[in-house]
Amino acid sequence: MNQDILEEKILVDKSVLKEWKEWARKGDMRVKGYRIIEAPRGDRIDRIKRARFMIVERPHGVVYQHSFGLISKFYEGIVEGKLYGTKCPKCGLVYLPPRAHCWNPKCKLQETEWIEMPLEGVVVTYTIMAFAATPFLSELPFILAYVKVGDSVTALPIQLKEIDPVDVHIGLKVKIKFKENRVGDLMDLYAVPAEKPHPPPRSKEEIEWLKSELARVEEWVRKRFPEKFKK
Ligand SMILES: [Zn+2]
Repeated sequence: MNQDILEEKILVDKSVLKEWKEWARKGDMRVKGYRIIEAPRGDRIDRIKRARFMIVERPHGVVYQHSFGLISKFYEGIVEGKLYGTKCPKCGLVYLPPRAHCWNPKCKLQETEWIEMPLEGVVVTYTIMAFAATPFLSELPFILAYVKVGDSVTALPIQLKEIDPVDVHIGLKVKIKFKENRVGDLMDLYAVPAEKPHPPPRSKEEIEWLKSELARVEEWVRKRFPEKFKK
């Protein structure tokens, strides 16, 4: 057997491991320091006592490495500024986010083929994010939309920008855009309206409520990330 077929070759190397390896090794989870604090303890609010607790510190760094597997081309495409979906050669279903195998039961996990997708779609559903995972907290509040791109039967989760949250609606036509510095991350993509929004009629109370909720989130972000608002 030709052994070459089993070998792993690096074709593009934009790795940052050199810089981060040292950082990832730091710590090793062993106790490096501690604090003793006083804090409440008790099983019911009317039975609270104060107690001493010891808190140990175990520093630990991680660089996660994972493969995108058979849908790698989608992420490579993002780096190139192109949007790739997949299409089933048997039944013709189109997937974006891509699926490596067709989910149509009749196709029995037929392997799909790559196609380039148009940079336009329609909002299928959306939400206005008032809370998020740590890396996105400073961006709050933002709009997360699920967008059906071209003929896809799946919808792409994407941040929707350049629109007042009050104006977003299901059915809004959007354009897909790429951020300038791309690393192969879904967050390298965002969407903007491709038409003048035409939201369904909303009551004054509804709009006022949404605006006051958004103001509360903005106030929280301002407090939590003061450096973001310094000029
Ligand atoms: Zn199929």
